[in-house]
Amino acid sequence: MSYQNPRISETAELLKKRLDELENKADILRSIELKALFDELKTLPPEERAVFGAGVNQLRQELGDLVRSARDEGEAKLPLIDVTAPFDVNTPPDKRPRLLSSEQGSQHPLMTELATVLDIFYRMGFMAVESREIDDDFHMFGALNFPEGHPARDDYDTFMTLEKDANGKQFIAPAHTSTMQHRVLQKYKADLENGSPIAVVIPGRVFRNEDLDARHEHTFYQLEGVYVDEGINAGHLIATLKTFLQAYYGKELEVKTQPFYFPFTEPSFEFALSCPFCDKKGCNICSQTGWIELLGCGMIHPNVLHQAGIDTNKYTGFAWGGGIERLVMMKYGIEDIRHFESARLDFLRQFA
Ligand SMILES: [Zn+2]
Repeated sequence: MSYQNPRISETAELLKKRLDELENKADILRSIELKALFDELKTLPPEERAVFGAGVNQLRQELGDLVRSARDEGEAKLPLIDVTAPFDVNTPPDKRPRLLSSEQGSQHPLMTELATVLDIFYRMGFMAVESREIDDDFHMFGALNFPEGHPARDDYDTFMTLEKDANGKQFIAPAHTSTMQHRVLQKYKADLENGSPIAVVIPGRVFRNEDLDARHEHTFYQLEGVYVDEGINAGHLIATLKTFLQAYYGKELEVKTQPFYFPFTEPSFEFALSCPFCDKKGCNICSQTGWIELLGCGMIHPNVLHQAGIDTNKYTGFAWGGGIERLVMMKYGIEDIRHFESARLDFLRQFA
């Protein structure tokens, strides 16, 4: 392609030569020489502007075409991968895909801490049940005493699928691990009737459509707890959580509750503990208050027990749910929840 204007034609020659050497071909479209031509355009008298502008645009067009064809050529050279091909067991060992050696990896700090948390609960007589990462409207809301149209359904900024279940409801990425309550109550109902309390903790990954900041992530982990037996009251709930927290932080702590509202517990509480960092003196972790609001809890609502077929005249129980990241952040003084999902090696290596 030839250009009438000598400045444009010189620049064209220069940039095409440079294009051959560039690793990232698209950088040519951001070159200062090309930008200088566009800058010059603005300074020209109106009668020259149209012709000069057409030339500069033509050059940009030509460079764009060259970048695209270089990219297509590069892609054509890549060997095709048949993702459906079975692995050939006769492949000699040196030709097999290699995994990184285990020394180059380490467990994620959340998983290490989760193992510690579960270990404490095992010793307290709880068993662990895994949560799931896609669930339905019934387990997210219906089974938890949020009837259709309940305003508290809007408190959860849930992600939903386009696909629908047999009841015509969209599937949900769980916004809390309480989606598992109905399942464990049903599963262990027979044991309960045979005299063993239901004592289950449920770790799981949960998802919320949050605005992200140092305290909010769209993806995080929760630990749910469910305990049901004869004669259970809120005193058992508070003692259980306090015992766990003291074991986890390895020190004496004070705890307190404030009334709160959840549809699936009655009464419901917000549970706070004395700041394990400053022992109530006030610090950045506890926003100078000496207390940390840690989780939501309460006595399981009779409607929830009833839905799972549990005799509410005979049995009562408690449940709680709280973020695992918050526990870990307080233990190590981690200031930003986003570190956990950031895949930043400098953060992860501190725990390796
Ligand atoms: Zn503090």
